[in-house]
Amino acid sequence: MAQKFQNLINGKWVDAVSGRTFENRNPANWEEVVGIFPKSGKEDVDAAVKAARAAFEKWRLVPAPKRGDIMRTIGDLLVKRKEEISREMTREMGKVLAETRGDVQEGIDTAYYAATEGRRLFGHTVPSELPNKFAMAMRVPIGVAGIITPWNFPMAIPTWKMFPAILSGNTCVFKPATDTPKTAAMLVEIMMEAGLPEGVVNIVHGGGSEVGNAITSHPDVDLISFTGSTGVGKQISRDSSETLKRVSLELGGKNAQIVLADADLDLALEAVLWGAFGTTGQRCTATSRLILEEKIYDKFIAMLVDRTNKLKLGDGLLPDSQVGPCVNEGQRKSVQEYVQIGKNEGAKLLAGGNFATEGALAKGWFHQPTIFGDVTPEMRLAKEEIFGPVLSVIRAKDFEESIRILNNTEYGLSSSIFTTDVNKAFTAVRDIQAGITYINAATIGAEAHLPFGGVKKTGNGHREGGWTVYDFYTEWKAVYVDYSGKLQRAQIDNY
Ligand code: NAP
Ligand code: MG
Repeated sequence: MAQKFQNLINGKWVDAVSGRTFENRNPANWEEVVGIFPKSGKEDVDAAVKAARAAFEKWRLVPAPKRGDIMRTIGDLLVKRKEEISREMTREMGKVLAETRGDVQEGIDTAYYAATEGRRLFGHTVPSELPNKFAMAMRVPIGVAGIITPWNFPMAIPTWKMFPAILSGNTCVFKPATDTPKTAAMLVEIMMEAGLPEGVVNIVHGGGSEVGNAITSHPDVDLISFTGSTGVGKQISRDSSETLKRVSLELGGKNAQIVLADADLDLALEAVLWGAFGTTGQRCTATSRLILEEKIYDKFIAMLVDRTNKLKLGDGLLPDSQVGPCVNEGQRKSVQEYVQIGKNEGAKLLAGGNFATEGALAKGWFHQPTIFGDVTPEMRLAKEEIFGPVLSVIRAKDFEESIRILNNTEYGLSSSIFTTDVNKAFTAVRDIQAGITYINAATIGAEAHLPFGGVKKTGNGHREGGWTVYDFYTEWKAVYVDYSGKLQRAQIDNY
């Protein structure tokens, strides 16, 4: 019998009011049920928001260093349970064990960063323009944060959002993706074990249109932090506008790696294999386009196709698997549709192109790592986010054209260039339109203490990660203390 899970509302584990449930299955073997979860609705969200609001009134008064101590304990517990969580994560969403371990590690890093931020949360003291008057600006918590997350980083992304939110004194209502509820349940369990008071974190499982929408349109939710697709991001932006919420959106990408003729080609090859096919291409920072300088096009393609055909697909829990399955049937179908689109557009299929169904792969949502060559910048293959193991290769005449091609997209999350010419590297840093640029490294590999997010349609200008995310979870309050003993009128009495 599969294990049954519940929502966490006001410190108590409870079923959905309706009693409905949904199943979570293993994408590497769809016969295996990972767990049964509550299929919640608006009434469950209402209860969670009420609990979070009540908890906020107490939590905001707890000193930030004390809140940081709990973050440290959360980090310690994640360290202890890292292997167990990683295995469960692979079982519910498919990526290989090395990568799910990395995902949990990012949660650990984020917890320890938040722990130390409890002793910073710096404000400013500034001189007043009037005598005997003191001026400062300080950060204050905002209230109840609605946290809506995707399935591809089931630990890292929820921690990027909830740890800084809670450290800053806010409380959370968390709706994880229905594809990865188990990792989310384990995370919340650990947060409670670490000593968070009841109601500071609440989890409501269920679908986007029911639970997600109930959060984004709830009048008593102050903040929304969302990571997911551009379409849903736009919907959330509309749904939360009526109640004027502060909204952080981290959306799609169409990331490119450039390889110039002067580059270390062996290194560039390792990077593109990792960037394009790691997490089965289902990363917002995945390398979806490879832009090759003409002179090395044929040579690099030959190297790339050879290595791609040797990648080992399989259950992510097996030690020799290099590429896991797509997360679900719909995701694999969408990949297959893009393969058809690529063929129709006249791109040249160089590797893969099909479902992988041999032997042990028969009951999983596996798709072969796929490469299209001769892709031109106008093709849909070059423009639309595929979110699967499909790489489109584009030719560029020279360095300048490679940058133009890279920038020719509505997205702007990650980017990479391989070159040994320092002048070109710095020109690329200046001219590439993206939130993240790597020199001689793959498009994936963000570190928890640096800003994370994108330009253009990848988001709405906020950043997760590092110190920058604390701007999202706090309001600035300006404070003036006049100790002159008389009424001093700024701009009037002093000029
Ligand atoms: P998604 O379909 O947009 O779903 C993301 C979350 O939103 C899920 O929890 C989903 O619920 C929920 N949701 C769906 N409709 C909603 C609605 N109307 N109101 C409120 N919530 C709603 O994205 P995904 O398929 O999980 O993830 C893939 C996408 O995420 C890709 O586009 C990828 O680029 C993007 N992504 C971006 C970043 C980044 O930082 N830029 C990072 C990772 C992923 P259910 O699915 O459970 O129903
Ligand atoms: Mg699953």
